[in-house]
Amino acid sequence: MKYSLVVNGIGHAFLREFGCSCGRCTQREHVANTSVSIIAADNKSNEVVWHALVDVGLGVVTSLCNLVKPEDARLDWLLFTHWHPDHSLELNRLCETLRRTARLRSQPFTPISTWCRNGTAQWLQKTYSYEWHRCLDPDRHEGCEPPGRVLDPVQTGTAGLKITPISVSHYTADIDPVNFKDRLFSSASFVVETDQKKAILFWDIDNTNDWIVNPASEEQEKTVALLSEADYVFIDCFNWTVENIRGYNTGHISFSTVRQYMKALQPRETLLMHISGHEEGLGNPGWGWLDGKWEQEAQKIWQEESVSGIVRVPRIGEEFPLFND
Ligand SMILES: [Zn+2]
Ligand SMILES: [Zn+2]
Ligand SMILES: [Zn+2]
Repeated sequence: MKYSLVVNGIGHAFLREFGCSCGRCTQREHVANTSVSIIAADNKSNEVVWHALVDVGLGVVTSLCNLVKPEDARLDWLLFTHWHPDHSLELNRLCETLRRTARLRSQPFTPISTWCRNGTAQWLQKTYSYEWHRCLDPDRHEGCEPPGRVLDPVQTGTAGLKITPISVSHYTADIDPVNFKDRLFSSASFVVETDQKKAILFWDIDNTNDWIVNPASEEQEKTVALLSEADYVFIDCFNWTVENIRGYNTGHISFSTVRQYMKALQPRETLLMHISGHEEGLGNPGWGWLDGKWEQEAQKIWQEESVSGIVRVPRIGEEFPLFND
């Protein structure tokens, strides 16, 4: 058996803006979005025998069609970090594609096992009620634990692969869908582990996750230990420095915080995701930078400040090995 992570999604995490002349809005090339597939394949035939998709942002279906051999296409689990549209927008297309694929193969359509936190479940139910009731088989996590807790592992039934959600703060998503003024912790990150490798899917997170740098309880220490010294950390990197706009927290971290969090967690590889740069403003560092420039500038800081491991921006379709026997 072979387990791996594959980066997919071909939209920008944040859409292009009409009339914006920045490099990211004007480039035609697709860039990786905040979505990753966890794949189990037979290591002789390469046949995909299990597939979990983490988040369903714009472009994921096309990305999957481009990456996977048609006969290998399948989806066994859907995991949501949170409900924001850039992580759920293509749910309808995904469900429709799977239903049509089942028909084409003369197989019955089986609702997709889906894990998310309770707050996210409430939002998804409201926004995507058709897909939620007809196409998904939800396994929601009922608690609304504050950030920095290890939640119960997702019961995926895959031998040798463990997926553990972690509660994180993502300010703009931690909202009660009925009473918008009430805080409801709805966001999760995931630790994906095998005997050989550990990967952290760490998006979207904000700059109030102080527990990563200064764990204040035994419980938070346990969480930090689980997140530490991973082989790969895929992390939110919204802007170069900006985290607050006109006094509001964007709900995302900038590269300034990425490096603080990574100094605490010391992964072998830091993969920057969810890049925007828009909020830096015209002409400032980060504004309009393409992935190559982000990588270059990030690597300079990594070297100057002796941060452990390497830092870079992943490409669409890039495969990260987790296990091979
Ligand atoms: Zn732009
Ligand atoms: Zn978000
Ligand atoms: Zn997002």
